[in-house]
Amino acid sequence: MRVTILSSGSGGNCALIEGGGASVLVDAGLPLKETRARALAAGASIDGADALLVTHEHSDHGGCAGVLARKLGVPVWATRGTHDGIRDQPPAEQRIEIVAGCWLRVGESDLWARAVSLPHDAAEPVAWMFEERNAGDGTGSVRAAIITDLGHVPEALADQFGLLDLLVLEFNHDVQMLMTGPYPWPLKQRVRGDFGHLSNAQGAQLLAQLCHARLSHVVLAHLSEHNNTQRLAREAAEAVLLEQQSGAKLHIGSVQRPLGTISLQPGIVPMQRWRAAQIALL
Ligand SMILES: [Zn+2]
Ligand SMILES: [Zn+2]
Repeated sequence: MRVTILSSGSGGNCALIEGGGASVLVDAGLPLKETRARALAAGASIDGADALLVTHEHSDHGGCAGVLARKLGVPVWATRGTHDGIRDQPPAEQRIEIVAGCWLRVGESDLWARAVSLPHDAAEPVAWMFEERNAGDGTGSVRAAIITDLGHVPEALADQFGLLDLLVLEFNHDVQMLMTGPYPWPLKQRVRGDFGHLSNAQGAQLLAQLCHARLSHVVLAHLSEHNNTQRLAREAAEAVLLEQQSGAKLHIGSVQRPLGTISLQPGIVPMQRWRAAQIALL
């Protein structure tokens, strides 16, 4: 599986997931031209994409869903609430309503996707997770998830994701910077509320729950440009990885430029244990 974060932050979110003979875009927060240019800059292409998956209707995620769907001719997968809330609606025949919790296969490929409900101030927001089955020599699986735009971490959330090889996780703000920063009071309350965004401390807490021997890449995502710094987010995440003796590589998503493509190979965890762990966790 190959994961390319084209943009991450309140200025626009978009990622490209390729694997198992298919590719999908996650979120449409950038105009088509910019999305295409960023993919090319990262050595990838959005033009063969099989679907556009949208997490929620906020404009930094669903703002360009209509134009991307029309120009790329791809179906748009989203919950009913998200579809209804998208301002620039894709054509009705390209609208695919999905239900959180179900594994969905991308065409006839070995790429599967599953939405997980999140607490955020949108109609019916989700995170998306992906699994490439029959990867490597045909016996392995690779799994990735993009978890941003949530205000708190519900008790059973981590269990929904199983053993991830790559995790894109929200580290939105530093609480101290937010509270002493330039945002008006109601916006501060919204961001730090139960349906706003994860702070560095909350992101670190969820990272600790999702950290295990298989995890090889962590991307810190949706960093606030006003209420966070890369250093603070990195320090919070590094403390967790150190504590858990994880060798996972840390990356920081940017709204300015795409991240280099991250390639995932099936890990060295024996298949039997991997299956048993999946069953135990899902
Ligand atoms: Zn957002
Ligand atoms: Zn949002």
